[in-house]
Amino acid sequence: MKEKKQNDVAVLLNYAGKYKVLTFLGMFLSAVAMVMGMVPYVCIWLAARDLIEVAPNWTQATELAKYGWMAFGFAFGGIIVYFAALMCTHLAAFRTAANIRKQGVAHLMKTPLGFFDNNASGLLRNRLDGGAGETETLLAHNLADVVGTAAMFIAMIVLMFVFDWRMGAACLVAAVISVLSMFTMMGGKNAKLMMEYQQAQDVMSKAGTEYVRGIPVVKVFQQTVYSFRAFKAAIEDYSAKAEKYTGGVCRVPQSVNLTATEGVFIFLVPAVLLIAPGALKSGDFATFITNFAFYAVFSAIVSTALARIMFASAGMMLAKTALARIDTVMNAPILPVTDHPQTPKDNGVVFKDVTFTYDGADLPALDHVSFKALPGQTVALVGPSGGGKTTAASLIPRFWDVSSGELLVGGVNVKDVDPHVLMDKVAFVFQNTRLFKTSILENVRAARPDVSREEVLTALHAAQCDDIIEKLPNGIDTVIGSKGTYLSGGEQQRVALARAILKDAPIIVLDEATAFADPENEALIQKALKTLTKGRTVVMIAHRLSTVVGADRIVVLDNGKVVEEGTHEALASGGGLYERMWEEYNQAVQWKIASGKEGA
Ligand code: ADP
Ligand code: MG
Repeated sequence: MKEKKQNDVAVLLNYAGKYKVLTFLGMFLSAVAMVMGMVPYVCIWLAARDLIEVAPNWTQATELAKYGWMAFGFAFGGIIVYFAALMCTHLAAFRTAANIRKQGVAHLMKTPLGFFDNNASGLLRNRLDGGAGETETLLAHNLADVVGTAAMFIAMIVLMFVFDWRMGAACLVAAVISVLSMFTMMGGKNAKLMMEYQQAQDVMSKAGTEYVRGIPVVKVFQQTVYSFRAFKAAIEDYSAKAEKYTGGVCRVPQSVNLTATEGVFIFLVPAVLLIAPGALKSGDFATFITNFAFYAVFSAIVSTALARIMFASAGMMLAKTALARIDTVMNAPILPVTDHPQTPKDNGVVFKDVTFTYDGADLPALDHVSFKALPGQTVALVGPSGGGKTTAASLIPRFWDVSSGELLVGGVNVKDVDPHVLMDKVAFVFQNTRLFKTSILENVRAARPDVSREEVLTALHAAQCDDIIEKLPNGIDTVIGSKGTYLSGGEQQRVALARAILKDAPIIVLDEATAFADPENEALIQKALKTLTKGRTVVMIAHRLSTVVGADRIVVLDNGKVVEEGTHEALASGGGLYERMWEEYNQAVQWKIASGKEGA
């Protein structure tokens, strides 16, 4: 356990890079500051000694002012040095957090795009950004404090035994009892109880969030008591665990701990009473009184020192979980990049016996799939839901890599194409199109940051977005998602199409681009698609079979397998799955028209 902790700190310091030095300097300065902070106690001892020596002729104690200034100087100096220490550790901590974020983002840039399908961006942000932030307490405060506290402890123990070891030992007994009671609360089998207690707290806070999030559903379905159940159970569980841990485990040790640390006197006074007779006999009663005065004041820092240890260990725990969260990002799989990139010769796309299985899935999502789109051709993927259409489309821009077989773009295996070249060659508009929370202009320009405003406008026009821009308060400078400027699914897709048009890539991959669209949007989207796909190689998925009628080739995917392939004419009377789908589609259309007439 101890070894692991050191590793965590070492891992963190590695992120600090050359700022590591500052961390060490900070720790050293913190130790110096703590030791300086002990000097005033020595001054108290010196002052007490002088006073008692000259008692009751107090005026003869001429050195008092000197001790006073000395105490002040060291106390104040200690604070300044501690500030300097914190300055160093904070600089290093902020650098480390920044480096963690940078390295994490750099790593994410190398992961396959599909990784983001399975890991929500909010979650990743929370892991990386939140995790990086949480390391700050450890690096900026805890590490310096641990070293400072260690120095303080050593100085404390030295001082305890310098003046009168018996009184020192009495104070030390208090410290030892306190440390032992802390270990009782946090170590051994009680560690498990503490963990359960903390987990219950976590569960309760999550259930609370979930509950608040579910309020709309609760209202819509007029639910009352039952909707509280999970939340109530979490609260009760927490309450039980809290009682079990705090009442069952902590009550006695914590009482002992507080008594020992806050009441060092309890140990000091009996010791003093025992020593007093001997001191009286020896005649050096003055030193005895001086020492007693010193220890009486000094005992107060024992509790300070112990409280610091508690805080530091809490910080260590926090940093440990933060590091674990950061690691989930840093250990995300990366997309292998070839050392010898080849240039695609044309814009054709070929699936050669491609099999692909998602991580953790039992059955392949694509099972020995072969088809090709010659340069400039349009290939449509159709088939029942779950057939593997989206999967096939997402393999082209390397959202994932094939498990076996080959995927060629321009006659070259996509794995042998430089990822940047591949991204330049392929534009894709997928189902879950996301627009950034920025202006329409910037959203479209994301495809090619160098283009002018006019070119963006042309692309938006080609994507049939004129009506969207007209109704927005600031035209293309309107920030999407800000108050009152939400776009419908179909509108978002048209903006995404404008982005794809602007990108001007020779290969287009479209996934269910009309899935969300209402009839008006659909007509506009179809127009936009015509512009986008003209003269390009297209692999498209569309639910409305009317869109695929003109495709050069239709590939029917069912259960991950190609079950039919050919032109619309051939397949529509081929007696297979496509014919059935085509019939169903036509019936649905007729039914729609019929019901439309009736309504009119
Ligand atoms: P379609 O687009 O034809 O409806 P998909 O390609 O989306 O089909 O899905 C094919 C199969 O792969 C389904 O069984 C689906 O559950 C599975 N699948 C799709 N996406 C993922 C994913 N990100 N992780 C794991 N399995 C997935
Ligand atoms: Mg799909």
